[in-house]
Amino acid sequence: MAAEHRAWIALGANLGDIRSSLRGALAALAALPGSRLAAVSPWYRSRAIGPHDQPDYINGVAELRTTLGPHALLAELQRIEAAAGRERSERWAARTLDLDLLLFDALVIASDGLVVPHAHLAERNFVVFPLCDIAPRLRLPDGTRVTELRERLGNAGLLATFATLEQLDD
Ligand code: ADP
Ligand code: MG
Repeated sequence: MAAEHRAWIALGANLGDIRSSLRGALAALAALPGSRLAAVSPWYRSRAIGPHDQPDYINGVAELRTTLGPHALLAELQRIEAAAGRERSERWAARTLDLDLLLFDALVIASDGLVVPHAHLAERNFVVFPLCDIAPRLRLPDGTRVTELRERLGNAGLLATFATLEQLDD
């Protein structure tokens, strides 16, 4: 039997029916070949950053146990994103669903299409907070504790947390 890897995946959405996009993404992750969801974080409402006015995001992190390799997993994440995008209304330019591969075991990958740990992991509190919720003892490949990142970043822009998607207010 192929070895099972631990992959941490960030989920984010700020357009359309956020609750059903995120619920659908979790179901799609759980249904990937050789894969099961090991943990799902609480959900954070976070203020969108960037030049344009955008609705708040809902962000969370899931741990996937999978026999897929990192490149195959990224391809599946992109397929799930694309499938969610097809359901979005034409007038929205942004995506309804963003899936990022944050960490894959203790691997460091720097290829054209895939960088692990995710290039922005250490600067995004809306990813680091939920990651700490489900993996408080986790370290980056360089040994940095995720809880140390959380302390460094602080909670600016994190507006609310929800234990489950059912509790999201809209
Ligand atoms: P962001 O998630 O930073 O807002 P995008 O989702 O648009 O931006 O970025 C997608 C691109 O990032 C893809 O072309 C993908 O190949 C690349 N990429 C590199 N490393 C990763 C990773 N660890 N997880 C997800 N996408 C990645
Ligand atoms: Mg992405």
